[in-house]
Amino acid sequence: MARKIITGIPVSVGIAIGRAYILNQGHFCLAPIQNISEDVVPQEIKRLHGAFDQALEGLKNIRDKIPHENTEHSAILDTHIMILRDPKLRESTEKYVREMHLTAEWALEKGVGEIENVFKAVEDEYFRARVQELRLLTQRVMNHLVGNSDAIKPITSRVILVTHDLTPADTVELDVSKIMAFTTAQGGKTSHVSIVARTLEIPAVVGVEDLETSVHDDEFIIVDGFRGQIVIDPDEDELTHYTNLKYQFEAYQTEVKRERHLPGETIDGYRVRLFANIELFEEVSAVIDYAGEGIGLYRTEYSYLHRTQLPTEQELVEEYRDLASIMFPRRVIIRSLDAGGEKIGQELESLEESNPVLGLRAVRFCLRHKEIFKTQLRAVLQASQVGNVSLMFPMISGTGELREVKGLLLEAKDELRREGLEFDEDMPVGIMIELPSAVMIADILAREVDFFSIGTNDLIQYSLGIDRTNKYVSHLYQPLHPALLRSIKYVVDAGHRAGIEISMCGEMASDPYCLPILLGMQVDSLSLNPQSIPNIKRVLRKLTMQDCTDLLKEILASDSVSKSNKLVRESIFNKFPEELMFYSSMLETEEE
Ligand code: PEP
Ligand code: MG
Repeated sequence: MARKIITGIPVSVGIAIGRAYILNQGHFCLAPIQNISEDVVPQEIKRLHGAFDQALEGLKNIRDKIPHENTEHSAILDTHIMILRDPKLRESTEKYVREMHLTAEWALEKGVGEIENVFKAVEDEYFRARVQELRLLTQRVMNHLVGNSDAIKPITSRVILVTHDLTPADTVELDVSKIMAFTTAQGGKTSHVSIVARTLEIPAVVGVEDLETSVHDDEFIIVDGFRGQIVIDPDEDELTHYTNLKYQFEAYQTEVKRERHLPGETIDGYRVRLFANIELFEEVSAVIDYAGEGIGLYRTEYSYLHRTQLPTEQELVEEYRDLASIMFPRRVIIRSLDAGGEKIGQELESLEESNPVLGLRAVRFCLRHKEIFKTQLRAVLQASQVGNVSLMFPMISGTGELREVKGLLLEAKDELRREGLEFDEDMPVGIMIELPSAVMIADILAREVDFFSIGTNDLIQYSLGIDRTNKYVSHLYQPLHPALLRSIKYVVDAGHRAGIEISMCGEMASDPYCLPILLGMQVDSLSLNPQSIPNIKRVLRKLTMQDCTDLLKEILASDSVSKSNKLVRESIFNKFPEELMFYSSMLETEEE
């Protein structure tokens, strides 16, 4: 194979150099469509069901191997088992054998294709991931039809995993200690494989275009988890470059990690607390490992996804209470459900929304499904008894919504009191500032909450009118846009005037280039992925507040985003060449 570079989304930093190991690929090849005769139809249907049953059996075996305490994984496996058991999937597949006389393999392909087509138009990342899961699950059925086992072939040496996508079932079966990096054709920042890679600190690039046609089994490749590149059959220069980069990065990581327990403050003593964003309970170990001072954003959606039943109040109480107890006395901010109906529980209504990101999501969804919301509020309250829990509401657009959600919280408190269940009467309540409307009335909102956390991922999306998942407009996603900087400054100032704490939990908080700007505005805390905490802390500890205020002044006076980006990049990079060489920035430097 000739030298080639393919690109995807970098989701976990680091460099891996080694041989490709192709998983879930080339296991079968569909023969040209061939019709079967009427008399073999019953036999073919039996073969189809047999393959479904064998795949189901395989999944059950995997589920039984999962340790009992790993309830998250078991729940996902249970959902996968339910999907394969779903009579609708079997019926739609069987129909192709019965009515069109297709072979079981082709019937399966058509049946799944039909379901995929129905959902093709859905933009939502979580939902698309779910449809992809269906494809991966049916691959297990296909393996049985074509006479292959769906068990993963054993990995004997250290390899780079190359696959279409990775399900939790695959992860359980894999010997992850042998995996140097993950690369997948599907997926985004929040896919299962991305979260696993970050938790295990293995470099990963997902959503790689042409991955399956470009990389072959056992081929020598390099994975660049910084820039999202895969170099196939690298030349000498590339090999030397990446080998050096890999050792430099590992040495840097070790050094930075050694300093992780030092306080997060500037040279002149300005203290910024560094919290962690997590989405899976399991990530709590990374928070402690990287010395996060608490959890600034616990995204609670995961417990509602990938399952057909909603979580019970007791399940949620246990999850939140365990999290709070492990982190105690460090703070844990639990964010209420930030999802739309399509992502959670199949029994809920499925709405046709032409613009789901502007639709019924987050608190809007919760206010329509008050019973689901109330269950979560009651669970957070019960966990608050540990003493370090705060609650945060996402996507608040105005005082009406805020008062309504706070009203429901009061109701939940009354209920618990009547039932004799204990909770923290003074649990702090905050909101995310991620809509321009909330920015404009930050002074009013600040009177009614204990803290703000600025969600720049959505605030940039909604302020600049840029779909955060659309790669065609990603170049317009600019944190230093004057509109955004003015918004952040306005929110920080309004919050401080009201005497409340201001945090930031969007990705901008983990961009070392943006750090001096945020410090210049005097944010009180930042919340970022746990792995980035030591690096941000190191940069923070080398800055002075004077540098930051000066730079902010210049940037606020700038009339061009590209000039601001250039100025920030140059001034920061000159100060921290070592700290920044491994970290990409959201700040593009191209001319306007
Ligand atoms: C944000 O919008 O910045 C944020 C942190 O929330 P999420 O990425 O979960 O939407
Ligand atoms: Mg958000």
